[in-house]
Amino acid sequence: MTATRVLVLNSGSSSVKYQLLDMRDRSRLAVGLVERIGEETSRLKHTPLLGGGTRERTGRIPDHESALKAVAEELDRDGLGLDSPELVAIGHRVVHGGQFFTEPTVVDDAVLAEIKRLIPVAPLHNPANLTGIRTAMSLRPDLPQVAVFDTAFHTTMPESAARYAIDVKTADEHRVRRYGFHGTSHAFVSRAAAKLLGRAPEDVNVIVLHLGNGASASAVRGGKCVDTSMGLTPLEGLVMGTRSGDLDPAVIFHLARVGGLSMDEIDTLLNKRSGLVGLCGDNDMREIRRRVDDGDEQARLAFDIYIHRLKKYIGAYYAVLGRVDAVVFTAGVGENAAPVREAAVAGLEGLGLAVDPALNAERGDGARLISPADARVAVAVVPTDEELEIATQTYALVGKSG
Ligand code: AMP
Repeated sequence: MTATRVLVLNSGSSSVKYQLLDMRDRSRLAVGLVERIGEETSRLKHTPLLGGGTRERTGRIPDHESALKAVAEELDRDGLGLDSPELVAIGHRVVHGGQFFTEPTVVDDAVLAEIKRLIPVAPLHNPANLTGIRTAMSLRPDLPQVAVFDTAFHTTMPESAARYAIDVKTADEHRVRRYGFHGTSHAFVSRAAAKLLGRAPEDVNVIVLHLGNGASASAVRGGKCVDTSMGLTPLEGLVMGTRSGDLDPAVIFHLARVGGLSMDEIDTLLNKRSGLVGLCGDNDMREIRRRVDDGDEQARLAFDIYIHRLKKYIGAYYAVLGRVDAVVFTAGVGENAAPVREAAVAGLEGLGLAVDPALNAERGDGARLISPADARVAVAVVPTDEELEIATQTYALVGKSG
């Protein structure tokens, strides 16, 4: 029997999301989520997709090891257990791969050590990712574990885009440079956009706008990323649900020296209490649009600031690429919020960009064009699928050996 199943694990600090896929037809066999790990109110939600309906477990799940064991038990109940000979590998989302990891990588001790070494630049994410990998290794030590890095797609950025204009020695000593994130999504979506246009990825230039609760833009030339809006951390760039995106770094000195805030307080302010939530109290675009439609001025201003920043990045990446074949919207906001798409390209007819209002308003699950038929530049909606991309990259790396 050829092993064709890949388990994808996305381990956060208090959660584990997972999907089991069969790479013969890229179908999902089961999906699920364990949340609030370590609390009394932990919850596991498991959905086998071949029938049987969603099952839930509640009650304390103390740590990642228990969480993964519980997931394994649920999979087992569906005949999809981790000890199945059909399981070929486990693919792990790892947020920060630094400059070193440019490709998906089979995990060994050296890889674990490098992911650990990157913790200072990804203190929130890499420790949880490491715990997930180590736990999976302990459950199936014989199985290849593959790390798929959020930063990898962006390692093709030229130095001119990847470096901050600060003292080179200091930057290098502390690994301060622009790494970018959401790379699996930008890779998947830019490739899917080329397919939608009926062209090879090498032949198209695409601006990808990944607009979820976290948000980032990328400029992709011929399938390779040449610039992206997130930097050393996911804080830089677009206005996000709770993150500020770009600001003058002196805001931080000012808040510390004049405002008396501590570094941790500023960190929390900019990452958790800024962006849309900081501007209007809501970070869900559905709620913000409802408020805008009701005439709420604060929500209107938040929406306008969000769109202004987005437009600036579209313009900047247009200039970076020189020629643009498609502007593509993806993730929760990008896939669902027609008013955001409309406002983001409004007034950009001079750049060949426009949306057809009827196509933009249509709902649909698949990749679709929303620009008028005669548009110079295609505008598209492409649903992202990071789990499928992680599974695809994992299977491409180890599938044949399974
Ligand atoms: P993500 O991080 O990709 O899961 O995106 C989550 C965000 O997508 C939410 O915080 C909402 O702001 C947004 N979102 C989800 N569904 C919709 C919708 N139907 N209309 C507008 N925004 C949506």
